[in-house]
Amino acid sequence: MQTAIGVDLGGSHVSAAVVTEDGAIRNQHEEDLDDLKFEAVIAALDTVIGAALKDAGNVAGIGIGSPGNIDAASGAVLFSPNFGWTNAPLGETLRTRFSVPVYVANDARCATLGEHAFGTGRLTKDFVLLTLGTGIGGGIVAAGELLLGNRWGAGEIGHHQIRPRDGFVCGCGKIGCFEAQASGTGLIRHAFAVASSFPRSPLLDVPREKLSSKKIRRAAQAGDGHALAAWKNFTEDLSIGLANIIAFTNPERIALGGGVSTAADFMLDAVRPRVDELTTMVPRGTTQIVIAALGNDAGQVGAATMALRGGLTTGSALAV
Ligand SMILES: [Zn+2]
Repeated sequence: MQTAIGVDLGGSHVSAAVVTEDGAIRNQHEEDLDDLKFEAVIAALDTVIGAALKDAGNVAGIGIGSPGNIDAASGAVLFSPNFGWTNAPLGETLRTRFSVPVYVANDARCATLGEHAFGTGRLTKDFVLLTLGTGIGGGIVAAGELLLGNRWGAGEIGHHQIRPRDGFVCGCGKIGCFEAQASGTGLIRHAFAVASSFPRSPLLDVPREKLSSKKIRRAAQAGDGHALAAWKNFTEDLSIGLANIIAFTNPERIALGGGVSTAADFMLDAVRPRVDELTTMVPRGTTQIVIAALGNDAGQVGAATMALRGGLTTGSALAV
C-alpha cells in the first residue's frame, strides 16, 4: 500500500506522521514550537519529517498543512499572520532537504481534503468543512474539486461578515466576521456580552481568562441561564453563516469540526431548524449539517492525501 508523510504545522507544535492511502495514521512524531522564526520552524520540520521518513521507507511524497495564504503550486507561504511570515519559501527549502516531492497548502484546505476523502464528505461531490475552534477554518469542495480561488484564497469562510455593525472585532481587523461570532472564541465573547443580565451567574466566578468555550457549552447543556443566553446568540450567528454558505454553494453536506462541535446534537438541534428558516431561494433540506468524523486528524490525513495525489488538483503537480 502506498504511503505519504502528512505534516500538521500549527502555531505551537509541528507533527508528522506516516499516512496510508486509505487514510490511516501511523507513527506520529511531534515537536513543540517555541520559536516561530522561519529557520527554527524548518529545523523542527526537519526533525519530525526525518523521523517519520525513517519509519516509512518509501513514500510518495510529503504533504504539509500550514496556516496562512499559501501558493500551493510552489509551496510558498505568501502571508501568515500566525507566524509573521511573508513570501516564506517553505516548499522550496524543504525540497532541498528531502529527496521526495514536497507539497504545501493551507491547513484548513488540507483538513477539508481529508474529511472529504475519508470522513463525512466521502462520496459527496459538493461538500464544506468548517472547523469551529479558536477561529473558523474551512474549505469548499465543488463538483468534486477543492476550490482554490484565483490566488489560493477560496474557502476563507471565517472572514465573511455577518454582523458588521454590532459584532465583535475579528483578528483580521473587520467587525462581526463569522469567525469572530461563531467560533469557540465567539462563544466566550457572547457570554461576556450578555453577562450584565446575569450578575449572579456561576460562570462569572471563573477568572475571566479561564472561561473556556467548553465550560460555557457544558453549563448550557446543564441548563444554566447565562450560558443558555450566550449559546442562543452563538447558535443564531452560526446559523446565519451556515445559511450563507448554503446560498453560495448549496453543498450536499456541511461538516462541523473543532472543539465546539463536540456538543453534537445539542448544537445541531439548535442550528438545523434555524438554518432552514434562513434558507430562502435554495430548496430547503438539500444540505445536510453533520458533525465531522476525523477530528484533529483531518489536516494531517488531508496533507498526506495531497501528496499521494500529486497536488491539490490534477493540474497542480509541481514538485521534486
Ligand atoms: Zn475576519
